Amino acid sequence: MVPKNLLILGSTGSIGKSTLEVVDAHPGQFVIRGLAAFSNVELLVQQYHKYKPEALCLVDESKADLLKTLLKNEEVTLLFGEKELIKFAQFYYVDIVVNAVVGAAGLLVSLETVKQGRTLAVANKESLVCGGPLFPEIIKKTKAKILPIDSEHSAIWQSAMAGKENELKNVIITASGGPFRSLPKEQFSQITKAQALNHPTWKMGQKITIDSATLANKGLEVMEAVVLFNIPASKVKVVIHPQSIIHSMVEFNDSSVIAQLSNPDMKLPISYALFWPDRVESPFGALDFTKLPDLSFEEPDLDKFKALKLAFHCAEKGGTAPAVFNAANEVAVDAFLKEKIHFTDITNCIEDTLQNFNIVSQPNLLDILEADKTARKTADELIGKFVC
Ligand code: NAD
Ligand code: MG
Repeated sequence: MVPKNLLILGSTGSIGKSTLEVVDAHPGQFVIRGLAAFSNVELLVQQYHKYKPEALCLVDESKADLLKTLLKNEEVTLLFGEKELIKFAQFYYVDIVVNAVVGAAGLLVSLETVKQGRTLAVANKESLVCGGPLFPEIIKKTKAKILPIDSEHSAIWQSAMAGKENELKNVIITASGGPFRSLPKEQFSQITKAQALNHPTWKMGQKITIDSATLANKGLEVMEAVVLFNIPASKVKVVIHPQSIIHSMVEFNDSSVIAQLSNPDMKLPISYALFWPDRVESPFGALDFTKLPDLSFEEPDLDKFKALKLAFHCAEKGGTAPAVFNAANEVAVDAFLKEKIHFTDITNCIEDTLQNFNIVSQPNLLDILEADKTARKTADELIGKFVC
């Protein structure tokens, strides 16, 4: 097989590192052309020495001198800052751009990748959520492909191949329910940062771990599914499945349900995206059915996990509503991680930011960026009022 050229954005994070583990597990199948990270210079330099990409991008410009010094004897193109991250998707020949950046910071580079007609393997769900109204038109023009890495969307993608588009009745996204699934609602305001960062089934970056605890992550995934599979929000269902063995399902018009199962390991959906349209032997996620726990399912409690209810509302509304949800959530999660607000204030912040927000129904990029900026400002002001 001719090796595939990869660009990995967010290479120092949880998904970025797992992507490199997949690369390591398949010697000779991939060439790393470029790596990008926010500020972890030490790890980026280590990765450089191992994979020798032609280019690196460091978004945090305050660490530019350190990177230049550490690599002064190397022949490598160094790019810095948010703007150069976008150039990164234009300059180098790549087969797949893996976007594993966290947050809406990944939006412009996701858009640029598809504008260039390249294949985008996307973990950065926030870019799909915010840029939802923009992707279809660009893809129609450039024929770029978007391959999901998020485990639920990879499962839907794989399961959906069992039928035709017009036969699809619902997609059923599974959710572990996070660490507070069984905790009474009255105790939610006392949840600490350490408790919220202790996810029962997945080891992930801090932001998505908090999102999983509030179920905002599931909400983002509902909006992500609408964009990726071009379906109305009414066809997206969520079911709690604490064991995280079924990663999601597709229901067809004849009531057949097709599911994708594995042990929870993000390296499996990453491998599927990187090797697609092929499947390869892989050591990741293998199941032993005789050792599985009982698989259980329950309805999500939308009263306890209001973020999911708000997300369904935004998914139905469309336009800039998902971007507003996302921006308020990013601001609130950051404030919670800095221990400025209570756990329950994360969802309150999303709800209050959405209240009376002027949603643009058919936005262009500027409308989306403006909605993101205004929502962050509103959320920031609210954080001041919520302070613990
Ligand atoms: P993480 O915090 O571990 O890593 C984030 C990466 O993004 C780091 O490399 C960081 O340097 C980079 N980054 C941060 N801010 C940036 C910016 N402004 N510009 C450019 N790069 C920046 O996060 P993660 O858990 O790897 O998650 C990454 C994305 O994948 C998120 O969108 C998350 O929702 C999604 N995702 C993660 C998992 C998982 O298991 N971790 C599963 C499904 C989806
Ligand atoms: Mg997921």
